[in-house]
Amino acid sequence: MKHYDYLIVGGGVAAASAVAGIRRRDKTGSIGLFSEERYPVYNRPPLSKKLWMGERIEDIWMRPSPLSLNAQEHLTTKITAIDRQNKIVTDEFGNSYGYGKLLLATGGTPSHLPSHDVPIIYFRNLDDYFALRRLADAKNRFLVIGGGFIGSEIAAALNLNEKEVTMVYPEPHLVDRFFPEDLKHVIDQEYLQRGVKLIAGDRVTNLASENGEIMVTTKNGISFSVEAVVAGIGITPNTDLAKMAGLTVNDGIVVNEYLQTSDPDIYSAGDVTSFPYPYPDQKSRVEHEDNALTQGKAAGENMAGAHKPYTHLPFFYSDMFSLGYEAIGRLDKNLDIFADWVKFGEEGVLYYLHDNRVVGILNWNVWDGIPKAREIIEEQKVYEDPSVLKGAIRNA
Ligand SMILES: Cc1cc2nc3c(=O)[nH]c(=O)nc-3n(C[C@H](O)[C@H](O)[C@H](O)COP(=O)(O)OP(=O)(O)OC[C@H]3O[C@@H](n4cnc5c(N)ncnc54)[C@H](O)[C@@H]3O)c2cc1C
Repeated sequence: MKHYDYLIVGGGVAAASAVAGIRRRDKTGSIGLFSEERYPVYNRPPLSKKLWMGERIEDIWMRPSPLSLNAQEHLTTKITAIDRQNKIVTDEFGNSYGYGKLLLATGGTPSHLPSHDVPIIYFRNLDDYFALRRLADAKNRFLVIGGGFIGSEIAAALNLNEKEVTMVYPEPHLVDRFFPEDLKHVIDQEYLQRGVKLIAGDRVTNLASENGEIMVTTKNGISFSVEAVVAGIGITPNTDLAKMAGLTVNDGIVVNEYLQTSDPDIYSAGDVTSFPYPYPDQKSRVEHEDNALTQGKAAGENMAGAHKPYTHLPFFYSDMFSLGYEAIGRLDKNLDIFADWVKFGEEGVLYYLHDNRVVGILNWNVWDGIPKAREIIEEQKVYEDPSVLKGAIRNA
């Protein structure tokens, strides 16, 4: 039976970063990476953004690649069981592999609607991108279900490729969770002006094939036809393997500050991981690239003996047409918000405060401000008068 000093389950950026983390401390230990997908590790954000604006597939592969760091890649290979007693994993073909340390970086699976008799692309991976591309080459009218990050980005991508797009989502606004009311109107307006049809506060209740088209019906009784459907309605973390192995799981795979699960030889990183967040009231599972990258690397280093707590405050970003932002910490529309606009809706910084402390920062069309933003949040300073924050990031 093949044995790996470090065995990694997962083919995303958390898995690839873990390889880099291991190699920082251990240049020679054997590493095996197992991915269900048929492609080497790639970055997911371009699937809904840059690949629709001219970026080439060659630019999305993860660098440095696990192969270049002397890890063995097993693609199209799902791991289906872990025998913790004997430190062995088994794949879907019945092959077994021994491990010294194991990492679970299994990410998430897109949530599905109750089944309908029409095909829906639940957008998550490179094959979904290729499938949507083929549809975009052949069809013109698209339904996008979901108004969060993924739905909004895909709708923008299709619109920029001259497709007619209708969006349906239950919230009153696009990307509803994070922004104050006035800014949400700016985003909605950007989409409307570009010709995207927005059906807010509603849900798709039926999809039916009719004369080569797809008839859409919503809960509020709206009906229209499209030629193709794509959905981005959230993910469910892939915790089954961990559950079957008897590891502690809540919303995600539970780890301590060293990213160890309830079995100290098994680690977890990325979207699937529920970790002790260093800041109060923050989510303990994060579905963003920066977290997957830094947590993966930290898990790899710890697997190789670093024993360093993970205290990184991750950031995230998105682009919607000409609007783009970077954000860090807790962005909750219900917090106190101090807005430092250069020009409303076009360029500025929003500070989200809880008990007069900055807990989140949104840099709206303001770039390279994340290190300073992280510093302000980590400082935990009390701001009786938040207006003193004016220019703190823009002029840094
Ligand atoms: C279209 C899109 C756009 C995004 N845009 C942004 C953005 O703009 N900004 C941002 O911060 N974040 C963005 N994200 C989120 C970001 O990509 C994720 O946070 C990141 O990919 C998580 O990495 P991960 O390695 O934890 O999980 P994943 O990327 O989900 O990788 C998990 C991998 O493990 C494999 N796997 C699962 N179970 C098994 C098993 N049992 N055996 C073998 N392999 C298995 C899966 O097939 C998958 O390849 C975007 C995501 C998507 C889908």
